[in-house]
Amino acid sequence: MQDPKCPKCESENYSKAGVIKNRQRFKCKNCGYFFTVSKLGKEIDSYYVIKALQLHIEGVSYREIERILGVSHVSVMNWVKKYGVKAPRNYQYRPTYKVVTHSELLDYLSDPKRMKESGMMLTELGDKYMMIKWERFKD
Ligand SMILES: [Zn+2]
Repeated sequence: MQDPKCPKCESENYSKAGVIKNRQRFKCKNCGYFFTVSKLGKEIDSYYVIKALQLHIEGVSYREIERILGVSHVSVMNWVKKYGVKAPRNYQYRPTYKVVTHSELLDYLSDPKRMKESGMMLTELGDKYMMIKWERFKD
């Protein structure tokens, strides 16, 4: 295993910042970014690879995927190439995302109207959740 690097700026100057769900969390001293993915490139857990490719197909940009999953956009581009993933053009839906607490999430989901004609993906993000929604463009 290599030493972890900050997925944002690739600095190796970071400090430990707690453990979340059995994964060591780090804080980059260079740019202040928090990350739990401690390996880069090929060694990243396939969990993140699959999620990144899903988001790519759904039309989320490389930079946004980097922000959502904390893996570098360069890694994501490499996976897209490696697995030959092609995202179909999509003019009807666009992704939007929000960071919410567990109770905000439950509150949001309590109204079925909010899920009408849209899909959603949830990603754990520290002690909160990232909610990625696909909404239809209003003409
Ligand atoms: Zn950094």
